[in-house]
Amino acid sequence: MADIVSGSCNCGGVKYTVSGPLREVIACHCGQCRKQSGHFYAATSASNSDLHIEDSGSLKWYAASDGAKRGFCGECGSALFWKRNDGINTSILAGSLDGNAGGIKLDRHIFVADKGDYYELNDGLPLFKQAD
Ligand SMILES: [Zn+2]
Ligand SMILES: [Zn+2]
Repeated sequence: MADIVSGSCNCGGVKYTVSGPLREVIACHCGQCRKQSGHFYAATSASNSDLHIEDSGSLKWYAASDGAKRGFCGECGSALFWKRNDGINTSILAGSLDGNAGGIKLDRHIFVADKGDYYELNDGLPLFKQAD
């Protein structure tokens, strides 16, 4: 996947490009992801060295736990990134990609024990109680 994909928040205050491979998309149904997204998180991931924040004007990081932080636009509120403090990869919200995602697909659901009781998971993809 040599194509460079780009992404942004809703207002355009944060823009990024990814110059390397994107992971398949993982849907996380944990409590923090549900709170931040308003439903559940669906994120791809890229190596930190392949993720280039082209415009970080309104990018804010929220330390959601001791081990990880969540990047979002402080202007329009779009959820954008999730990153372990010591990680070499950054999760990227699939919905923030501009247009074509380069062929990646939703691959599995994680933390399904924490999902809301107002929806069902019946797309046939693998379900994991915690992380995969
Ligand atoms: Zn924004
Ligand atoms: Zn989560």
